[in-house]
Amino acid sequence: MNAQDILDRLEQVTGGNGKWIACCPSHLDKSPSLAISEAVDRVLVHCFAGCETTDVTSAMGLNLADLFYNKLTSCELTKRKLQRFEDALRHERLQVAIINSVEMTERPLTVYEKERRLLGQQRIDKIKGALHE
Ligand SMILES: [Zn+2]
Repeated sequence: MNAQDILDRLEQVTGGNGKWIACCPSHLDKSPSLAISEAVDRVLVHCFAGCETTDVTSAMGLNLADLFYNKLTSCELTKRKLQRFEDALRHERLQVAIINSVEMTERPLTVYEKERRLLGQQRIDKIKGALHE
Protein backbone atom coordinates (compact mmCIF):
# COMPACT_ATOMS: atom_id res chain seq x y z
CA MET A 1 0.00 0.00 0.00
CA ASN A 2 1.04 3.59 -0.36
CA ALA A 3 -0.27 6.77 1.26
CA GLN A 4 -2.77 7.37 -1.54
CA ASP A 5 -4.37 3.97 -0.97
CA ILE A 6 -4.86 4.92 2.67
CA LEU A 7 -6.11 8.44 1.89
CA ASP A 8 -8.67 7.02 -0.54
CA ARG A 9 -10.32 5.29 2.41
CA LEU A 10 -10.61 8.42 4.55
CA GLU A 11 -12.92 11.43 4.72
CA GLN A 12 -12.06 15.14 4.81
CA VAL A 13 -8.44 14.68 3.85
CA THR A 14 -6.31 17.82 3.83
CA GLY A 15 -2.57 18.36 3.60
CA GLY A 16 0.12 17.18 1.26
CA ASN A 17 3.87 16.67 0.91
CA GLY A 18 3.81 13.46 2.89
CA LYS A 19 1.61 14.74 5.75
CA TRP A 20 -2.17 14.74 5.92
CA ILE A 21 -5.03 15.11 8.36
CA ALA A 22 -8.34 13.31 7.96
CA CYS A 23 -11.33 12.15 9.95
CA CYS A 24 -10.52 9.09 12.01
CA PRO A 25 -12.60 6.14 10.77
CA SER A 26 -12.41 4.43 14.14
CA HIS A 27 -14.40 6.93 16.22
CA LEU A 28 -17.10 9.52 15.57
CA ASP A 29 -14.75 12.22 14.37
CA LYS A 30 -16.31 15.62 13.77
CA SER A 31 -13.08 17.57 13.34
CA PRO A 32 -10.33 15.62 11.61
CA SER A 33 -8.01 14.12 14.21
CA LEU A 34 -6.19 11.44 12.28
CA ALA A 35 -2.65 12.28 11.19
CA ILE A 36 -1.27 10.37 8.23
CA SER A 37 2.36 10.67 7.20
CA GLU A 38 4.88 8.88 5.06
CA ALA A 39 7.75 7.21 6.86
CA VAL A 40 10.66 5.58 5.07
CA ASP A 41 9.06 2.17 4.82
CA ARG A 42 5.37 2.66 5.68
CA VAL A 43 2.47 5.02 6.12
CA LEU A 44 2.10 6.19 9.72
CA VAL A 45 -1.37 6.87 11.11
CA HIS A 46 -2.02 8.48 14.46
CA CYS A 47 -5.35 9.37 16.01
CA PHE A 48 -5.08 12.34 18.34
CA ALA A 49 -8.28 11.26 20.05
CA GLY A 50 -6.47 8.16 21.21
CA CYS A 51 -7.64 5.31 18.98
CA GLU A 52 -5.24 2.41 18.67
CA THR A 53 -3.58 2.11 15.28
CA THR A 54 -4.99 -1.41 14.90
CA ASP A 55 -8.52 -0.02 15.41
CA VAL A 56 -7.91 2.69 12.83
CA THR A 57 -6.60 0.23 10.25
CA SER A 58 -9.37 -2.31 10.84
CA ALA A 59 -11.95 0.49 10.46
CA MET A 60 -10.45 0.98 6.99
CA GLY A 61 -10.59 -2.75 6.32
CA LEU A 62 -6.84 -3.09 6.61
CA ASN A 63 -4.34 -4.58 8.98
CA LEU A 64 -1.06 -3.18 10.27
CA ALA A 65 0.99 -4.94 7.61
CA ASP A 66 -0.98 -3.06 4.93
CA LEU A 67 0.59 0.18 6.10
CA PHE A 68 3.92 -0.95 4.69
CA TYR A 69 4.60 0.16 1.13
CA ASN A 70 5.51 -3.33 0.06
CA LYS A 71 4.89 -6.46 1.94
CA LEU A 72 8.47 -7.24 2.76
CA THR A 73 9.49 -9.68 5.41
CA SER A 74 10.83 -8.08 8.55
CA CYS A 75 14.22 -9.54 7.71
CA GLU A 76 14.32 -7.74 4.36
CA LEU A 77 13.17 -4.53 6.02
CA THR A 78 15.88 -4.76 8.63
CA LYS A 79 18.51 -5.36 5.96
CA ARG A 80 17.35 -2.37 3.94
CA LYS A 81 17.23 -0.19 7.02
CA LEU A 82 20.74 -1.23 8.03
CA GLN A 83 22.00 -0.57 4.53
CA ARG A 84 20.45 2.89 4.55
CA PHE A 85 21.93 3.68 7.94
CA GLU A 86 25.35 2.50 6.83
CA ASP A 87 25.20 4.57 3.64
CA ALA A 88 24.15 7.64 5.61
CA LEU A 89 26.87 7.04 8.19
CA ARG A 90 29.54 6.73 5.50
CA HIS A 91 28.30 9.90 3.81
CA GLU A 92 28.27 11.94 7.01
CA ARG A 93 31.69 10.70 8.09
CA LEU A 94 33.09 11.71 4.72
CA GLN A 95 31.56 15.19 5.01
CA VAL A 96 33.01 15.66 8.48
CA ALA A 97 36.41 14.32 7.38
CA ILE A 98 36.55 16.71 4.42
CA ILE A 99 35.68 19.68 6.60
CA ASN A 100 38.23 18.63 9.22
CA SER A 101 40.94 18.35 6.60
CA VAL A 102 40.11 21.80 5.20
CA GLU A 103 40.43 23.20 8.71
CA MET A 104 43.73 21.45 9.39
CA THR A 105 45.45 22.00 6.08
CA GLU A 106 43.92 24.91 4.22
CA ARG A 107 42.13 27.72 6.03
CA PRO A 108 39.74 28.64 8.82
CA LEU A 109 36.27 27.27 8.28
CA THR A 110 33.32 29.32 7.12
CA VAL A 111 30.21 29.50 9.29
CA TYR A 112 28.46 27.19 6.87
CA GLU A 113 31.22 24.59 7.10
CA LYS A 114 31.18 24.69 10.89
CA GLU A 115 27.42 24.24 10.91
CA ARG A 116 27.67 21.43 8.39
CA ARG A 117 30.25 19.67 10.53
CA LEU A 118 28.08 20.01 13.63
CA LEU A 119 25.10 18.67 11.71
CA GLY A 120 27.21 15.80 10.43
CA GLN A 121 28.35 14.91 13.94
CA GLN A 122 24.77 15.04 15.22
CA ARG A 123 23.64 12.77 12.41
CA ILE A 124 26.47 10.33 13.08
CA ASP A 125 25.53 10.16 16.76
CA LYS A 126 21.88 9.67 15.88
CA ILE A 127 22.62 6.89 13.40
CA LYS A 128 24.96 5.17 15.85
CA GLY A 129 22.22 5.35 18.46
CA ALA A 130 19.74 3.84 16.04
CA LEU A 131 22.13 1.06 15.04
CA HIS A 132 22.54 0.05 18.67
CA GLU A 133 18.84 -0.04 19.41
ZN1 LIG B 1 -9.86 7.96 16.39
